[in-house]
Amino acid sequence: MFDNLSDRLTGVFDRLRGRGSLNEQDVREAMREVRIALLEADVALPVARDFINRVTEKAVGQQVLKSVTPGQQVVKIVNDELVAMLGGDAEGAGEAEPLHLDARPPVVIMMVGLQGSGKTTSTAKIARLLKDKQGKKPMMASLDVNRPAAQEQLKVLGEQAGVATLPIVPGQQPVDIARRALESAKLQAVDVLLLDTAGRLHVDEALMAEMKAVASVSAPTEVLLVVDSLTGQDAVNVAQSFSDEVPLTGVVLTRMDGDARGGAALSMRAVTGKPIKFAGTGEKLDAIEPFHPRRVADRILGMGDVVSLVEKAASVVDKEEADKLAERMMKGQFDMNDLRTQLGQMQKMGGLGMLAGMMPGMKKAKQAMAASGMDDKVLVHMDAIIGSMTRKERANPALMNAKRKKRVAAGSGTSVQEVNKLLKMHQEMGRAMKQIRKMGGLKGLGALFG
Ligand code: GDP
Repeated sequence: MFDNLSDRLTGVFDRLRGRGSLNEQDVREAMREVRIALLEADVALPVARDFINRVTEKAVGQQVLKSVTPGQQVVKIVNDELVAMLGGDAEGAGEAEPLHLDARPPVVIMMVGLQGSGKTTSTAKIARLLKDKQGKKPMMASLDVNRPAAQEQLKVLGEQAGVATLPIVPGQQPVDIARRALESAKLQAVDVLLLDTAGRLHVDEALMAEMKAVASVSAPTEVLLVVDSLTGQDAVNVAQSFSDEVPLTGVVLTRMDGDARGGAALSMRAVTGKPIKFAGTGEKLDAIEPFHPRRVADRILGMGDVVSLVEKAASVVDKEEADKLAERMMKGQFDMNDLRTQLGQMQKMGGLGMLAGMMPGMKKAKQAMAASGMDDKVLVHMDAIIGSMTRKERANPALMNAKRKKRVAAGSGTSVQEVNKLLKMHQEMGRAMKQIRKMGGLKGLGALFG
């Protein structure tokens, strides 16, 4: 996601941060580069222009330029404005816009969009989220009588997601299906009814008329437009056309997994005024995420999506174990056993590749890892090396002399070189921990990686 933009921006900001002082000219030059990066990411022109104007205005202020860390401050301004551009409030938390489901049940979510945008898949993904994460009782109904087998497809997805679908009555028309779905949802005490409406290849009158008719019988609380992020500015134009016709409450942006540019995500809010509520990140039913403007901004700026990382960690890592580890780290008692625990946790969290995208500064580390042929096998090797060390050696790695290294290399089926690498890594982690402590604990973590 956003790989190109992220690379470009990190380059600009590394240069900004690296300088002790900045003048207005420096800022304007950097902003020119940012502007080009945004346009290359396929951001709508007026959106890019406004963005640059807002950032420049704030950044050339005397307070920023005269501060001790002008580069950092400019980056922070860009980050905040990026959050705003993605749909969050620049001053606020930049949290995801939730679905509003407090109306009287069955609350109706109407899914609209063009054919092939990922509408049916997204319907099932959201239904599954509501069931599994919010304890709701959802039901889905397909009103798509145009595309052959569309209703059948939703039924199959429903079975996979464990969500009920309205039984198919061949030949029934969309508005009638919507009425029947509502009746059935009421009878079965369904909390949320998701209506997967028909899509067409293009925005046309028949499609809009059908959508309006369905909306008028079902009174949806949420009308979510599904668009394919890979179509870039087209996605934004489609959103515009739809929102002229029906009161959209939000957007689901699919195929974010394949979108290296990100133009649709970046321009959607500014152009249409509609929040992106979810991002589709793959074909599987669990590949959907609430769209958090601040987290996405952090990812784009190469600051890493630390919050998502921590959330992910919390879901797979034993909390007590993690707390103990953190405490030992802070006390400077981080030994080989701790490193091993941590390597194990990294593996549980999906390996290096998964982590690299989320951790601050890890983009560069990932490139370096790839260049040196480091991959998930390395985690396994490291674990084997630590496994071949004695208890004493693990507690006090300084004991590792040439003889011991040779023995451990042989025992773990690795080389002395690899043993050295691991020892070095442990040393460096120890040093990093000390620095964090000096900077005032975990709060200083960002500064270390930034
Ligand atoms: P519809 O015509 O709008 O209902 O589109 P479908 O839901 O049938 O999706 C079309 C194709 O896109 C299917 O093969 C889906 O698996 C795929 N798809 C949907 N959402 C995503 C996504 O977020 N990422 C990826 N990679 N594929 C997706």
